[in-house]
Amino acid sequence: MITEAKLQRKINCLDLRQQHQKIKKEIFELFEKVYETTSFSGGPYVEQFEKDFASFCGTTHAVGVNNGTSALHLAMLALGVGAGDEVIVPANTFIATAWGVSHTGATPVFVDCTPDTWEIDVSKIEERITAKTKAIIGVHLYGQPFDVDGVKEICARHDLFLVEDAAQAQGAEYKGLVVGGFGDMACFSFYPGKNLGACGEAGGITTNNQAYYDRLLSLRNHGSTVRYYHDEIGFNMRMGGLESASLIIKLKYLNEWNNRRREIAKVYQQGITNPKIKMQAQPSWSNSIYHLFVVTSENRDHLNKYLNEHNIFPGLHYPVPCHLQKAYRHLEYKKGDCPNAEYLAQHCLSLPMYAELTDEEVNYVIDVLKNYV
Ligand SMILES: *Cc1c(COP(=O)(O)O)cnc(C)c1O
Repeated sequence: MITEAKLQRKINCLDLRQQHQKIKKEIFELFEKVYETTSFSGGPYVEQFEKDFASFCGTTHAVGVNNGTSALHLAMLALGVGAGDEVIVPANTFIATAWGVSHTGATPVFVDCTPDTWEIDVSKIEERITAKTKAIIGVHLYGQPFDVDGVKEICARHDLFLVEDAAQAQGAEYKGLVVGGFGDMACFSFYPGKNLGACGEAGGITTNNQAYYDRLLSLRNHGSTVRYYHDEIGFNMRMGGLESASLIIKLKYLNEWNNRRREIAKVYQQGITNPKIKMQAQPSWSNSIYHLFVVTSENRDHLNKYLNEHNIFPGLHYPVPCHLQKAYRHLEYKKGDCPNAEYLAQHCLSLPMYAELTDEEVNYVIDVLKNYV
């Protein structure tokens, strides 16, 4: 057993520094090319990344934008979602899943997660569908694919659009296929802390639909396809050149990094045997990329304090479920509306998870958890 004395350094939920030190030279070389060609906004490096990322996801198109929230906003607009419409969104997700809906004037309708996969509960979707429902946004939360076929069946039955929020799931697989092409569009975040994160803010949308693709290109660029001719009221949501350069380099390493996370997750899953700690259920369809390794425990704050005392600093994703956020108080949800998401918000912690964690550190976390009483 590794004793405390042997591990005096802090282990945080995430450490971006090590990875960026390793690839600094390669990234800076490409930054220099962006600089020399002044391709700062859009341009050839963004186009290169879009090609690379579409091919990574197995889709015909990818559109780079300025962040994941814009990706969701533009996807909703491209589907024609707007005021008076409703869109089904899981209650257990990062709040930005709902922002895209709200920014169009439509209303997010929150559905609880299951008690074990913590993903959207397919059996609870239909009771929330009304004549106003236009789409379902499924979230591959913590890097684990949701029940795609279950949600698709409901979309087909009620003639609804399907959008994947894959912000946490670049490279995750559902039934052996990489996410990003299961619905009408899929939205990605390349926020620095995501599995594929830019050196800056960035996001993207993948699709196999030419009409959505054309519309997204226009919307992100002032509603324009010919310079200074504006066909509709648009946005400036372009991706930056330096951001795209960092993503071109990092995409080459993504499978390697994701596989290391899978390896760490397996060690956690086999090694964490303390009955006081519960982990996310792993459905057979899922090959997660473990963006986060979330666990629950009856007394979360007690466990957190204990881990902190042992130099382990977990994350908390997320302390308040979407339906109970102040921003949505006008929708008049109350405690008890989504009990599983509420339970999770009160009991979850995210264990350290990133590709550069050493075996020694992973085993140390397991040992510390073993001794938790
Ligand atoms: C990060 C994230 C977003 C938003 O992406 P940004 O790039 O931060 O705007 C949306 N949905 C989920 C599930 C996320 O984790």
